[in-house]
Amino acid sequence: AKGAGRNRYRFFEAEMTVATQVRMALEVSLRPALARGEFELHYQPRIDLADMALYGMEALIRWNHPERGRVPPQQFIGIAEETGLIVAIGRWVLLEACTQTRRLMDAYRRQVVVSVNVSARQLALPGFVDEVREVLARTGLPPGCLELELTESALIEDIERTASMLRELKRLGVALAVDDFGTGYSGLAYLRRFPIDVLKLDRSFVQQHDEDVSTLGFVKAFVDMAHALDLAVVAEGVETAEILEFLRAARCDQAQGYYLARPMPLDDLRGVIEAHGAP
Ligand code: C2E
Ligand code: CA
Ligand code: CA
Ligand code: CA
Repeated sequence: AKGAGRNRYRFFEAEMTVATQVRMALEVSLRPALARGEFELHYQPRIDLADMALYGMEALIRWNHPERGRVPPQQFIGIAEETGLIVAIGRWVLLEACTQTRRLMDAYRRQVVVSVNVSARQLALPGFVDEVREVLARTGLPPGCLELELTESALIEDIERTASMLRELKRLGVALAVDDFGTGYSGLAYLRRFPIDVLKLDRSFVQQHDEDVSTLGFVKAFVDMAHALDLAVVAEGVETAEILEFLRAARCDQAQGYYLARPMPLDDLRGVIEAHGAP
């Protein structure tokens, strides 16, 4: 028994080592990835449920690793956050997203809102508001066409400082969204401390209410409450027509998900915009 325990321990240790090695290898190749131009942005359309028109899109980073191929953000955003690399990567994402969106708007003479994910580390930087201001000035993107997605955990890090910073961002004219809502601990009332415009309901929240008619009342009440607080509600991870109908019945404002459109390169997005027509 003692021997088996020891083997199990060794096995566990070996597994840890492999995981650590993969992680370290990723970390080593993550450092030069930005300079080597290995990142690109894909965009996932966000649709207005009232008329199914394209409202905007979320910028999602993609890493084309020279040996490993496409590495999912889940595998490297955490490393980027722990190492601080997220600051440089996030800066690139913001500039690239605003540059590409400005170009898209010029090509179609139509407004689209681009949502950019901002990590807690970026938000903690003293110069973050200036960075956003500079990127808007440099790219000429109207501030109202930029939305920043923040997670609940980023908001609670330093409530006073965060709240005053978000007020500065609001003065620039950008929109603010809380991402992955429903996965954290904060309720709606808590969010009143921050000048938030949009709640993005997490995929797990959306899918848990799947087709189930008994929860329609609950989701409806939730959406009504958000509306009373002047928040728009966006559902993420919409994978079926049934969920889409459910969300519409619950008076949810907008939706994003594979059923509507997957994240795609900018050139494919042009096709989507053409299909939706110019307003
Ligand atoms: P997120 O911000 O919650 O982004 C939504 C994720 O859900 C994306 O995964 C998207 O591809 C996926 N998704 C969209 N519709 C569906 C659906 O119908 N079903 C399912 N199962 N998934 C759907 P992705 O692109 O792999 O990104 C994962 C996470 O990585 C993001 O979650 C975000 O937290 C982070 N991330 C991505 N890009 C950036 C970035 O530029 N900066 C930062 N800081 N984080 C990023
Ligand atoms: Ca997001
Ligand atoms: Ca999300
Ligand atoms: Ca508002």
